[in-house]
Amino acid sequence: MEKLLLIKYGELTTKGDNRNYFICFLVKSIENKLLGLNYKIEKDYYRMFIHTDDVYEALNRLKNVFGIHEIVIAYKLNDSNIDSICTSAVDVLKNVSFNTFKVETNRSDKSYKIKSNDVSRTVGASILKNINNITVDVHNPDILLNVEIRKEAVYLYYERYAGMNGYPVGTMGKALLMLSGGIDSVVAGYLSIKRGVSLDFVYFESIPHTSLEARNKVISLANTLCNYGNIGHIYVVNFTKIQEYIYKNMKGEYLITFMRRMMYRIAEKIAEKIGANAIINGENIGQVASQTLTSIKAVNDVTNYPIIRPLATYDKLEIIDVAKKIGTYNISILPYEDCCTVFVPKHPVINPKLDVIHSEEEKFDFALLDQIFEDIINIEVPTKERHNEYL
Ligand code: ATP
Ligand code: MG
Repeated sequence: MEKLLLIKYGELTTKGDNRNYFICFLVKSIENKLLGLNYKIEKDYYRMFIHTDDVYEALNRLKNVFGIHEIVIAYKLNDSNIDSICTSAVDVLKNVSFNTFKVETNRSDKSYKIKSNDVSRTVGASILKNINNITVDVHNPDILLNVEIRKEAVYLYYERYAGMNGYPVGTMGKALLMLSGGIDSVVAGYLSIKRGVSLDFVYFESIPHTSLEARNKVISLANTLCNYGNIGHIYVVNFTKIQEYIYKNMKGEYLITFMRRMMYRIAEKIAEKIGANAIINGENIGQVASQTLTSIKAVNDVTNYPIIRPLATYDKLEIIDVAKKIGTYNISILPYEDCCTVFVPKHPVINPKLDVIHSEEEKFDFALLDQIFEDIINIEVPTKERHNEYL
């Protein structure tokens, strides 16, 4: 009897003809996670099996992989004889502590002579006979033992672990995440990865007004997203001259609006260059003056690129819950300031007017935008020193 992992697919099961495309990405994600372990993957249209000497280590690593609905520790029997199934079932359960149990059988091999209900009854009777002080409970058993009778083998299992669901990373192509050091954008990134998007990042910094610690914080956030299978690049944009120019020359209460319009313009250029299909950010309706619907419209005005805002309708507390769950919250609350927080006007405009913006922007020196692309810093994530930790 071999102990192995059985992987049940997540939402990709809704994909008819494309299913293999999704499964190939899932295999890639799993291979990345199992690097260094001795294993073999066997896959079919419905599920995947992972043969390995280190089932629990593999299980732990796969708990963070998108595209998996459930991971099950299964026992593979090569002999499908009913007596052999009974003996194995007792072997599997004899050292497990439980009071009540139920057996459920699924017979995908219809040529198997005994009907599912009869298999369950026979296996159940054998367990009752051979293990002391237990009873059957069909409604709420401590242990549910599944017997799967398939053409190639019989599988027994009772240990199930929830997977992350979602789509395998990369199946939806690439997007560019505007990643700051705050709580929100990294959560927006996580939710996008969950939908199969592979992310590159753009971070705007304003050294010397912002610090290298602030940049390292953003690198650390991007590294944490690698826990969930994302591998990408951070493009660090030196935003200092643009912010200083806006600060000195343009209408005070519109500072953030102008700044964000410049961010979007730059993000769009980077997105085009790297072949990203969308820009993603952590904007949230009404969170701050620059995120009222009027503000969002005024900023969005500079681009035709799809801008995805996964957190648009979340409450802050809901965002914080996800941040804690994915391990980014404690990094995000480190005190280093980003460029947005350094140059905040006293009374930012809540309903910016496009005609004011357009006439005011005539003052802006757009050559500054072109210069930016000459000194973008490109950082790979996971960063080399963290590589083994995340893959
Ligand atoms: P917080 O959690 O404090 O709200 P935030 O990152 O969401 O942090 P906001 O001022 O709300 O900050 O900015 C809205 C969105 O704009 C961010 O979620 C992020 O996607 C993007 N953004 C803001 N500042 C930067 C920056 N310095 N670099 C890249 N993207 C940024
Ligand atoms: Mg925010």
